[in-house]
This record gives sequence, C-alpha cells and structure tokens, in this order.
Amino acid sequence: MTAKTYRTLCQLCHSNCGLIVQRNASGELSIQGDPDHPMNRGRCCPKVLANTEILDSPDRLKHPLLKTKTGFKRISWDEALTIAADRLGDIRTRFGPLSLVRCTGAPVSYQGRDGFLEFMGAYGSPNLTGVGNLCMAPRMMAFKSVMGVLRAEPDYDHAELVLFWGGNPLGVERFSSYAAHNGLKEIMPRLKARGVRTIVIDPYLSETAKKADEWVRIQPGGDGALGLAMIHVIINEALYDEGFVGSYTSGFERLRDHVQPFTPGWAEEPTGLPASQIEALSRTYAGSKPAVIHEGNGLDMYTSGVNAVRTIAILIGLTGNIDAPGGNVFMPFPQQAALPTRPTPHKDRIGYKRFPLPFHAPFPVVKEALLNGGEGRPRAMIVHHGNPVLIQANERRTRQALEQLDFLMATDIFPTATTQLADLVLPMTSDFEAYGYRAYSSIEGGFLALAQPAADPVGESRSVFEVEYDLARRMNLGQDYPFHDDRTWIEYMIRPSGVSLGRLEAERVVFATKPVQYRKYVTQGFGTPSGKLEFFSGWFESLGADPLPTYALPAGEPLDAKALEAKGCSLLGASRRPSRFVHTKFKNLEKTAKPYPVPLVYMHPLDAAARKIPDGGAVQVTSPQGRITLKARWTEDTTPGLVWIDFGWGNPTDGQANINVLVSDVFLDPLSGGTPNRLFPCEVLPLG
Ligand code: SF4
Repeated sequence: MTAKTYRTLCQLCHSNCGLIVQRNASGELSIQGDPDHPMNRGRCCPKVLANTEILDSPDRLKHPLLKTKTGFKRISWDEALTIAADRLGDIRTRFGPLSLVRCTGAPVSYQGRDGFLEFMGAYGSPNLTGVGNLCMAPRMMAFKSVMGVLRAEPDYDHAELVLFWGGNPLGVERFSSYAAHNGLKEIMPRLKARGVRTIVIDPYLSETAKKADEWVRIQPGGDGALGLAMIHVIINEALYDEGFVGSYTSGFERLRDHVQPFTPGWAEEPTGLPASQIEALSRTYAGSKPAVIHEGNGLDMYTSGVNAVRTIAILIGLTGNIDAPGGNVFMPFPQQAALPTRPTPHKDRIGYKRFPLPFHAPFPVVKEALLNGGEGRPRAMIVHHGNPVLIQANERRTRQALEQLDFLMATDIFPTATTQLADLVLPMTSDFEAYGYRAYSSIEGGFLALAQPAADPVGESRSVFEVEYDLARRMNLGQDYPFHDDRTWIEYMIRPSGVSLGRLEAERVVFATKPVQYRKYVTQGFGTPSGKLEFFSGWFESLGADPLPTYALPAGEPLDAKALEAKGCSLLGASRRPSRFVHTKFKNLEKTAKPYPVPLVYMHPLDAAARKIPDGGAVQVTSPQGRITLKARWTEDTTPGLVWIDFGWGNPTDGQANINVLVSDVFLDPLSGGTPNRLFPCEVLPLG
C-alpha cells in the first residue's frame, strides 16, 4: 500500500474540524488538526480518535439485517432494498403518504441532516421528526419570533462583555458552533487579555463558569423569570438603546406594560437569586456595550425553554446589541439548495394543530400518535442517524410506540437500542469512508469545506445517498431525483453558493461569501412579519401563541420540597453529556470510552451524606417513570438538591443504564413539544 495524505473533516460533532489524515504503507491512519482550516486552525479534541476506532471496531454493522422470529438474519443489499421498497410501497398504497415518518438525530454531519430527506418529498410525507425538541428547535423558534432568523451569533472579538447563559462551551470539548473563526478555548484567553468581563448563568459550576469572572447560580428552570426581570429593570431604568428601539423595533410599549409585574423581587423565588443580584446583572449587561449573549442547549430541555430564550432575544434587541460589532450578529453563510425539492404541506404534518410553531413534528407528539392508535397513525418509520429509544424521554413508552409501527427501517454504523427494534437494519459508511461537505458561518465570510474518504467502506456498508436513491428508483420515485450518490449530492447542494465541486476538490476550503457586514437591518430590515425586530411577535400571534414571553413553572414539574416529597422524590435531576462522547455514540469504542467507562450521577456531598452514599458507591435512581442503577460521584459543583446524570448510555454495545427511563414524556413545552430532560423529580438511594 502506498502512503497517502488526505485533507478531510471530522464530522463527529457540529464543529466539523478540518483534519489532515495520513495513511502509512501498512495502511494505518494517523490524524492531526488541519492548521489551514478556519474552524479549528490545527486543533482537535480527544474524540477525534473515534474516527479511526470506528473503522476497526468489531461491533460494526457490516451487512443488511432482517428481523425474523429467531433474531436478525444477514441478507443481501438487493434483498434488503426489495423488502424496503415492497413494504414502504404497500403502506403508501394502503394508508397514504402521510403514514411514513423520518426520524433523525443531531445533524452533526450533513449526511445525517439530509439522508432520506429527498425521499420523504418524493414519497409525499411532511412527517419529519428527530431531536429538535431537545436541542436547537426551541432556541431557533425563539430567535425567529423576535429577529426573523434562527441564530444571532456572538461576535466575541469586539465585545466588552460576554454572558454565557445555559451553556458550557469550554466543557463540551467542542469549539464554538457560533463563530467558526476561532475556537472558544482560544477566544477566552483573548477576552481576558482585553479585560472583557465574562459572566455565566448556570445552576452548575461548569468549566466555563470556573473560568468566568462571575457565576450566577440560578435555580434550574428559572431562566425565563430572570430574563423577564432583567427586561423589567432595563426598561424601567431606561437602560435600553433608545435610538435602536425607536427606529428598528416594534411592540416596545406592549412589552413595557407586560413586564411591569415581573420585578426583581418577584423573580427571587423562581430564580433563587436575590433581587439586588438581578438588578446588578441587568445594569452590567445593559451598561457594557457592546455585549454578547451566548445561549446554550441547557435552555432547550425545560418545558418553558422557548419563552426563556425569547427573553434573551428581547434583551439583545433592547440593548441594540444586534448585528452590530461586538454583539449578536447574523454571520454570513454560504447558500445551499433546499431539500426536499418537492416539499409537502407543513400543515399536514403530525401534531400541527397542537404545535404549529416547530419546523418539524416534535418526537413526543409522533409518539402519542403511535400510542393513541386510530386511522391516521404512522405506519412506517425510517430512523436515519438517530437513536430515539435512548435520546427521547421515557424509554419504556418510546419502545412501546415504535412497536406499533408496521415497518421500522433503521440505518446506522453500530447496533443500537433503536436498531434492535427495527424490522430492517441497513449498514452505513462512517464519515471517513464517504464523501461529505460542510458549510460554515464565520466573521471572515461563509465558507465550504470538503470531506474526502480516507478509508474503504467497512464490510458491505454503503453511503446513505446511494441507498436512498436506489430505494427511490425501485419505488418509481427516482425520476426527478437531483442526486444519486455522495458526490452528486454535494454538487447539487453547493450549486447555489457559486462554488463548484471541482473547485472544492482542488482547494478543500473555499470562502463563498464576503466577510461579515454589520447592521444589515438598516437597509434590509428584519425577517419578521413587520420587518422590524419584534418584541411583540406577529408570527406567534398569527398562530395563536402568546405574542409576548411569559413565565410559568416548568409544566408539571414541582420545584418546591413539599411537592417533590409527595412524589417520593426529594431531589431534582438533570441530564448531562460527558465531554468524551457525542450524544449516544462511542461508549463501545475502547480508546474513546476508556477514561469514562460508566455513566455517573453527580451529587452534592451533603445530599450523599444524608443518604449514606459513599463517593463511587452504587445507587438506585428512581422517578415516577422508572428506576436505574448507577455509580455516584460527589461534587460541590452542583447545588444541594440537584443531581446531574450522564445521558447517552443504554445501547446493547455498552449495557449501561439510560437516564431517559426516568424522564417524563407527558409534560411538554406548550410551544415546542420539548420534554423536561434537564428538570425532573427523582430520588437517589444506596444499593445494598
Ligand atoms: S471538536 Fe472534536 S469531535 Fe468535534 S469536530 Fe472537532 S475534533 Fe471532531
């Protein structure tokens, strides 16, 4: 074998860092960060090693598998796709196109984002679901309601204050997903050197909080109340940007009247913060111009997450820190094609009447449709690049729901808790075995980067777009398909950016837009119904939702001690992701998982001592939904009464406990359909 060097991407998390992969004469691969890739500039995190471990893992799915009465049996690709085409075709004929659902995981790679999306359009179903209810969809809905766009990214290098709210970017072993021009690990020291004040709002003393100038130890679920009280102070003390508010916003008077009851004194109880601290924080944020707010995933997993983030978007607008240097900015991003090319009516999707705001069907609502039965229930599901059994709240009910399907097809690289339930399992190539691409936003301009295969497909694994097109063709749905494999998919997707695949292959990283231009709203307005930044949301009002953010106790989840005790639970639980892992992945990979072999429950020593639980002791964690066994880890980083439990375990290849056994799927965010994975009642008791 001849030695070769590849320039490619790590697509294990949203950062999609650039990599240099070297293959020696014996075929061994070594990886280093690409110093010329604007996202990571040579850096990469320990997870990057999973890219090569995946190639050699004995757990890999290597052949299509069909479920039989006696277990899974190996079949050929031709048999697998014939079965899939027959079953999906029959279901479409008998129950109509709306009976098919596509369920995906986090779109860390664009193969994950786009796989089977065009197929859904060709089939005629708008029923797309996934993990949006747990990550990003609540924040995107909130930003869109106020600013008309899905994101407003921090411009760290020109800010005078950075407020991290509900996120731990330093602790997740991932660089900024907001601004690709530098990793946050490099940005933090630069902020310190410039004397920029950093504040973290989090119930947990996270890695980011430890490095910040100030930690605001908020009570879990109190973010919306804090946001409303900060708006109250900033308006009543006239700390807002009068010029910006007067010229470029709408609904200020209604917002002003609306927030009068939400005084800092009122917010003391839901936030656990003294009124004086809320007042000081409001004055610091409004008085440090320009300032950015970096909001995090912690805000998504409450049943009041959308309203909490709306208050953040409103704070950004009130202070005029929007699309201005050092504020939250609409960064340039390369244009891409939209899929599916034949979109189906959004209003026909599952759960639209109850949840018209989310862009996709919230998974808990799809689950209800399956469990409630009836004529219109889904009949078939394609799970691509996802693992709903582990990721979604209440594992028992998720399993019951998936068992109602007439046909479940799952694609993956490893057996998972979800592929175990599937009728048909299709082995996929990993990111190092296929072509891929990524579009990035950055202050220097939106750019594209290409991932080229550095290894041959393992076993009979295939890329998702080959499989998808083959299936569509067999079902006579392939006539207008715009691509038939990875390369034609990339070619099609990047065409609107003006960059050709040939150029991307030659240069690997291509800037497709100009550098950031600030204050675009002066000439273009905002993408809201009124064209202004809307404190009073016209979009929410048009769909019957409250046009102004409100605060409610997270639905159904009692926070006070008495109510918790009545449930037999004197603690609150919250999920956390160890930085070694990406969601449910890679617990089975030896090198990647070795430093963190089992999931833990992190508890305050006072809570542990009261229950006679030693550090490292085995415990049973119970909730009204179920019970799991874990090991306890003492930490003073959490608040007494609040325990943090690792999520993402429970696949057949790791054999550990799944936190989502404990989480309720009944209490939903009334706007997003989100579940309370970051706030649920529980009890922890010693085992044995
Ligand atoms: S941060 Fe780590 S896991 Fe994420 S893309 Fe970069 S190297 Fe890969």
